[in-house]
Order: sequence, then structure tokens, then C-alpha cells
Amino acid sequence: MNKAVKYAILGAAGALSAVNAVRAARFTPKKTDQAALPEETVDVETACAHLSRAISIPTVSYPEKEDVDFSQFDLFHAFLDEAFPLIHEKLEKEIVEEANLIYRWKGRRSDLDPIALLAHQDVVPVSEGTEPDWTHPPFSGCNDGEYIWGRGALDMKNHLIGVMEAVEALLAEGFVPARDIYLLFAQDEEVSMSDRGGAKCMMEVLRARGIHLDCIIDEGGAMLPVYVKGVMEHKCLCGVGIAEKGYADIEISVNAKGGHSSQPPAHSALGELAAVIRRLENHPFKAEMPPFLMEMLKSLGRNCTYPVRLLTCNIPALRPLLKAAMKQIPLSASMMRTTAAVTMISGSPAANVLPQKATATVNFRMMPGVSSADVINHIRKCARGEKVEINCIKKKEASAVSPTDARAYRIIEALCMQESSDHIVAPYLVMYCTDACTYEPICEHIYRFSPFKAGVDLMICAHATNERVPIDSIAPAIAFFKRYIRKASAE
Ligand SMILES: [Zn+2]
Repeated sequence: MNKAVKYAILGAAGALSAVNAVRAARFTPKKTDQAALPEETVDVETACAHLSRAISIPTVSYPEKEDVDFSQFDLFHAFLDEAFPLIHEKLEKEIVEEANLIYRWKGRRSDLDPIALLAHQDVVPVSEGTEPDWTHPPFSGCNDGEYIWGRGALDMKNHLIGVMEAVEALLAEGFVPARDIYLLFAQDEEVSMSDRGGAKCMMEVLRARGIHLDCIIDEGGAMLPVYVKGVMEHKCLCGVGIAEKGYADIEISVNAKGGHSSQPPAHSALGELAAVIRRLENHPFKAEMPPFLMEMLKSLGRNCTYPVRLLTCNIPALRPLLKAAMKQIPLSASMMRTTAAVTMISGSPAANVLPQKATATVNFRMMPGVSSADVINHIRKCARGEKVEINCIKKKEASAVSPTDARAYRIIEALCMQESSDHIVAPYLVMYCTDACTYEPICEHIYRFSPFKAGVDLMICAHATNERVPIDSIAPAIAFFKRYIRKASAE
């Protein structure tokens, strides 16, 4: 290579890296254009006492209604009436079916679409035999000065009480919303994956009245402290769920003649089924990089340290590379594709009997846009003409995707970012099912976000032993709800 060409290449590389260095320096967190947040008064001591009491009422839900002790829900309602006297006095309350609660706070402008805040009253049971493993009994609501303990502390009596505290405080301050505000508290979120759940009943009540909601906020997203040395230091990721994956449990069966195991065919029903399962695992659904994922990566990228931003400022250009890498990691792959997990299998009832029917159960989590019918087609393709029986035993379709340029999303984003410059707000895909998508027929702007700061170590205790909420997360959460209600209910 002659010298001139060499210098030209070096010069171009230098210019490019200089351009990149400038880009990385400018690739910083988005600025919000709104003024600093006004202080909100929060009576945290009372809120903690209320949450402890709420937890001490075991509003446990079970799939079969006859197993549910609805007298506990009656007690819970009586507690709410007593603990929140202004709400009891000033809001319209309605009980739908057994115990679903609708509160309506009438606004000044009946011509505007109302807003809704969702929560569920029910909690999952404590697994039998695990009670002694709890540091404080699961329905004690124990306040040890650092945490409030018990079933529902994180999922989601903290959120329900937080909303109630915010509304009660705003009423006490004489706040009058422009829009109507609905509080919709279901009785059975933990078990209602059907079309007959409490959320569906409440949605039908509102729909029958011709109500279209401007926006909904529900559980699903969280505030997660993040620290990756040298990459992202002391940040807090505020994930706003803009959609949730679908769910389907599907049984795939192969029938055979059966008979005595001393004279087996080349492949028994289980062997044939195994081949179908292998093909299913070897042919995963196509991975995609949906817009919300790119937006999330950019938000994270902007908040990395400068050396890492030299790379992350080029996220759009790195898309193919990122896609290839993220596909390999189960956590990130689950945000990119419909997943299939083969979880159960059954064959013959005895070791010396050939199975007449072999059945595998596969748990699918569908991306928005992929239906349970698409999943069944995929299974048929993987069966390659093999005679398989496909039986969907439980399903919930994936939700629609709510936009990130809507008023309510921008309010949540601004409130989080104004609270601290360390907060990173990013849209994300909720992996489990919530009640929120039940309201899709009457609302297009549905956001899943619970403003309680809690680490992964605590999050995994929801539905498990030692569920507890940090006390220092409670006041900021109530302040968030107060501000959210003020802004979202405005004209
Ligand atoms: Zn929940």
C-alpha cells in the first residue's frame, strides 16, 4: 500500500472515531422539558398502617369460586370504607359480581374521556408447608421499620393502598379533577385467565354505559435499581409495560396401538412424540426487533458510561449484531420471540405397557401479533404430517401494543425522570398476564407501571416466601400517584 493511501485510510478512521466520540458524548439521557416537581404531602405513617392492615386480611383467590372466602373481601371493603373516609363519602362505589370494586370520582368535564387506575384486591395463597419459612407470618402485615411483610406486600396491595392514599390526600386538599377518575379493583386477577373474570365484568359495565377510557395504569412495570460496574452505575430502570405477552398451554398427543412392551415397534407413541417435540424446539418462532425493544435499548444505551456509549450511540447500525447476540440469551430472546417450553409429558401407566397415547404439554408465550391459532399452525408444521392431536387447555391472547407517544405515557415518563436524573424510563414487554388488556375494547392507552422501587431480590419474593415491600419506597410511590392523577385527569 502506498503511503498516500495509508494516510488517507488512517485519516478517515481518525475522523470517523472523532465523529463517534462526539456522538457518544452527546448520546445522553433525554431531557424532559417540564418544570421541577412540586412537593406532595404524604402521610407515610398512616399509609404503612393501612398497608399492614390490608395485608392482614387474607383476600386469597382460587380458581374455583366456591373455594374463595368472600367474607374476607367484605372485611377488606369495610376496612377501605373506614380507612379512607373521604373516598367513602365523595366517590361513587359499586360492587360488581361478588367483590369487584368500581369507584368513580366525578370530574368537572363530562365531555372528556375518564382515566382509570387498576389494582387487584386478591393475593395468591401461601404454599402449604412454607409458612414456617417466613421471617414474619404471611398475613401479619408486620412492619419492622424497614419492610412491611406479607402476602400482597408487592403484588399488589402496596399499589392498591398507594392509589387510595393518593386519592384520599387529593380529596383532603380539595383537588377536583377535570376528567372522571375510575378506580377498578378486581377480585380475582391472580386466577382469572378467562373471559369471565372480574376485570371483564367491570369492563362490560363501563362499556354498557358508553364509557371510553383515555388511559389506564396498572401493575406490570417496576422501578429496578441497576448497577453494572463500568457500564451503568447507580441507575434505576423504570420499565413501563406497553404490552404483555400471550399465554397458551397446549397438549400435543400421539396415539398408537399400545400393547405389550416385549414386542415394541421401532418407535412407541412417546418416541414419535419426542420427534415432534425436538422439531418444535429446533424450529423456534422468528425473532424480531420490535420498535419498543429498539427504544428500550436506546434508553439504556444513553445511560451507560462514556466508554460504553462509544458503542451504544450506534445502536441502529448495530441492530443485526445485537439481534444475533440477544437471540442467544433466554432473557433477551424472550422479548424478541414467541417462546415454547415443553414442560410435561405422559405415556403409559406402567413400565411394561406400550403407551396408547403419549401427551406433552407445551407452554407458549406469544409476542403481540402472534395468536394462539398461529401457534397451533406452527405445531402442525413441526409435526410434518405426523398424526398429532392438538388441544389448547388454557390461553390468553397477547395484548395490543400501547403507543409511547401518547399523553399518559409521556406523563409517566416525565414524572419518573423529574423525580431523579438517575431514572431511566423505557417501554418494555410484560412477560406475565395482568388484567389490563381486558380493557382493550374501551381503551388504547394501557400502561403497566408500579412506582415502587425494589430490587430483583425482592421482586422474586412476590408469589413466594417473605414477600415484603421496602418502607422507603412507599412515600415516593404515593407522591407519584398524586402527581399522576393530577396530570392525567387534566384536560
Ligand atoms: Zn398482581
